[in-house]
Amino acid sequence: MGRIRAGARRALVAVAATTAMVAGGAAVAPSASAATVVTPPLKDDTYVLSSYYGARCMPVRSASTFHLGQDLGAASGTDVRAVAKGKVVKAGAVRGFGQWVVIDHTLDGKKFSSLYAHVIDGDARVKVGQTVKKGQHIADVGSTGTSTSPHLHLEVWKGGYPSGTTVDPLKFLKYRGVDLTTRSIRNYTRSTPPSSCSYFTAGKVNLRTGPGTGYPVMRTLQSNVRISGTPGVAPGEWRQVTRNGRTGWVHRDYVSPSYTSQGSRYSLSTLNLRSKPSTSSKVVRSLPADAHLTMLRDLKGSWQRVRYGSTNGWVHARCISDTRDGAQVVRNASGATYSWVATSTLYLRQGATTSSAKVATLRRDDRVTHLATMSGGWIKVKVGSKTGYVASRYLTSDRP
Ligand SMILES: [Zn+2]
Repeated sequence: MGRIRAGARRALVAVAATTAMVAGGAAVAPSASAATVVTPPLKDDTYVLSSYYGARCMPVRSASTFHLGQDLGAASGTDVRAVAKGKVVKAGAVRGFGQWVVIDHTLDGKKFSSLYAHVIDGDARVKVGQTVKKGQHIADVGSTGTSTSPHLHLEVWKGGYPSGTTVDPLKFLKYRGVDLTTRSIRNYTRSTPPSSCSYFTAGKVNLRTGPGTGYPVMRTLQSNVRISGTPGVAPGEWRQVTRNGRTGWVHRDYVSPSYTSQGSRYSLSTLNLRSKPSTSSKVVRSLPADAHLTMLRDLKGSWQRVRYGSTNGWVHARCISDTRDGAQVVRNASGATYSWVATSTLYLRQGATTSSAKVATLRRDDRVTHLATMSGGWIKVKVGSKTGYVASRYLTSDRP
């Protein structure tokens, strides 16, 4: 009788536990046995809790608007330990996370996975298929992949990685008796995300009615225009953004939290778009002169990855220009671009604003050599020995 009651009580506790997890892991007093199931991923007092699980503004271009894990900032080389016993299912290099280890666990009869990213030597200490003990040293803290400083990015997947869903690692561990917030050196403030985040378009991009290139274009947005988005909405490839009251979708690669110099370039002449950053690689497409190219993030040596229409490829940086041939610019054989002053008087200024100091007064028909295209219609130019900024609308390609 007594044994049956005890069993029934355990079953009830298990049901309550499951409910709590679904509800987001509300604080539940852990049982003594549950406390022995997990262990912290890093030794006590070796880490700070920095970025938390949950909705956020995109921290860098293309990033998600939902942080799927908990970041533990720690010195490079700090031992990373398995939070529970289990079996290694991923180990080694992976795009984005750099080096990682993923471990499958069975806890309370349910499948979970723990994921450790940006580590050093993801497959040096453990191999896929290997069984690990709770607390076993599986990797070292590093800053591999998309990371700016050494930290452990810890994810917990209920139902297993990658088919299950992520849960808050802090709640997952706390529920099982390990409270990382009391074992860390310091906890950064956990801030509530704003209702709207401010971003910029990173290149000229179509605002579409849905998350995919198959959806109609509502309007085309220019490079570096201000857009906004809601944290946590659409963690996939597309971002829902609003521009001047109109809400639509753009690809995440075109959403940046900061103003970006990347945008459009133009081919100087007919040009080969190549599969790799080398003249010996395959030609994926031949470009006409003055082709409009969208700058992609990848840069290798003097090669730039660009998009033309729907085709991506590499071009040599010397074969592309900031400005388009046509109304304002003339280009000589070596690729330099220049134009002439179209107004009777034009001030050459120290900065790209009308309030910055005058460097020189230019006259109609003065020739200016283009150095760089700035934002807001300004161009950095050289006139004789002087360098400064002028508004491009006062320039012409019509030789006097
Ligand atoms: Zn992270």
